[in-house]
Formats: sequence, C-alpha cells, structure tokens
Amino acid sequence: MKLSVSDLTAGYGKAQVLFGLGLEVAEGELVALLGANGAGKTTTLRTVSGLLKPWTGRVALDGQSLLGVSAARRAQMGLGHVPEGRQLFPLMSVEENLLLGAAFLAWSSKTSELQRIYALFPRLAERRLQMAGTLSGGEQQMLAIGRALMGKPRILMVDEPSLGLSPKLAEEVLSTLAQVKAEGMGVLLVEQNVALSLEVADRGYVVEHGRVVLSGSAKELSSDQGVQKAYLAL
Ligand code: ATP
Repeated sequence: MKLSVSDLTAGYGKAQVLFGLGLEVAEGELVALLGANGAGKTTTLRTVSGLLKPWTGRVALDGQSLLGVSAARRAQMGLGHVPEGRQLFPLMSVEENLLLGAAFLAWSSKTSELQRIYALFPRLAERRLQMAGTLSGGEQQMLAIGRALMGKPRILMVDEPSLGLSPKLAEEVLSTLAQVKAEGMGVLLVEQNVALSLEVADRGYVVEHGRVVLSGSAKELSSDQGVQKAYLAL
C-alpha cells in the first residue's frame, strides 16, 4: 500500500496552514515529517486521516482518491493514526482501550491481535487489567500506538510520540516503530526530537509554513547544514 499526498491546502476557518504540501509513504518504510512548531505537521496528519477536510489537493491510497471517504472508513482501509496527546480512555483498562482500536475486527482476530500487541509491548501485557490513566507516560504512549495497531493498519501515522518522555523511553517508543516498520508497515512519524527520528527513519520531509522545503534520505537530512542548524543544534 502506498499513501500519496499532493498539492494539499487546508486550514482552520480562514487561516490557511497547508500551502500545497506533498509527500509519499510506502509500506515497509519509516518516513519522518520534520519542522518547527506550527509548521503544519499535525494538520497534515489530521487531513490525511480524514479528521480535517482539505481545501484542495489530493490524498490517495494506492492511487485511489480518498476524497469524501470518512475517517472511520479510512481506518478500515488501512490508515492508522495515533493522535497527539494519545487520547486514551483513562478509566478503562489497558485491554479495553486496545479493543477499542479493533472495533471493526471479528472476535477471533481481536484475540490474535491482542496477543500480537502484547508480544510487541510486554509491559502492556503485565498491566492489561490496570486502568490506562494509572500508566506512566511512556506506557500510555505505547498503549496509544498499540491501540492503533489493533486496527491492522498498513500505514501508521504517529504524532509526537516522544513528547514528555525521558530520552530513554523516547528511544524505546521509536525503536518499537522501527520494529513495526520491519514487519512491513509504513510509518509516517511527526517528531520534535529530530535527531532521534532521523536515527530510525529511512527518509524524511522538512515542512516550513505548510510546504515541504526539503526531502531526502535520513542520512542526507542529518548531514544537511540547514537541518543541522535549525533542528539539530550542531
Ligand atoms: P506542533 O509541533 O506545534 O504541533 P505542527 O507543525 O504540528 O506544530 P499544527 O499543529 O499543524 O503545526 O499547526 C499549524 C498552525 O495551525 C498553527 O499556527 C496552529 O496555531 C494552527 N492551528 C492548529 N490547530 C488549530 C485549530 N484547531 N484551530 C485553529 N488553528 C489551529
């Protein structure tokens, strides 16, 4: 499966945020979407997942336009989204939160998906009956990712997973995304932690004022002087 976004414009009310943004993510690659606060990264993910309507432009899965396709249907088609701030249900258990991510799967595959997620995140297995609100920040982030994975996405978009986490936990969460990618999923990662995301990413895009201003392999971006100056403080 391949996600293609082209010439995307979008915004809130009259305030335009995206000015012709384009990107591609294929299965089996981890792509970083980098940029300063307010550049439009979250807006891009929300537009791709169908939570926000684009003004113009095209979002397509395997060449098929998603124009007019609901967010729920996009999720069923294989587009997963872990929103900024995790949006878990704090008074529900870990397992109940996970099952919400698989609402449209048959019962038999729900059980096998749960086992797959618990194998990926053994700490969630240990805490499966614990309320989500009592988990640490890192565990909550893993739960949010696990819940999105329960829907068996082919392309997973993750917004700022390392926000508020210690460097060690941030590394742990990002290495899980690398593992998910190694299993064949496509991952689009929005991250403030540019150094860490370029360590796990295959490729990346730099967004400024709602446009892609630079793209390349993670290696090319890490050695780009502009990227180093703006995001890596070297
Ligand atoms: P951040 O890292 O801060 O989340 P970002 O690159 O993800 O940055 P966006 O969250 O997409 O940026 O925000 C882009 C612009 O859109 C910002 O100027 C922001 O203030 C504005 N914006 C975001 N959400 C809304 C909203 N719901 N209503 C109005 N303006 C919004």
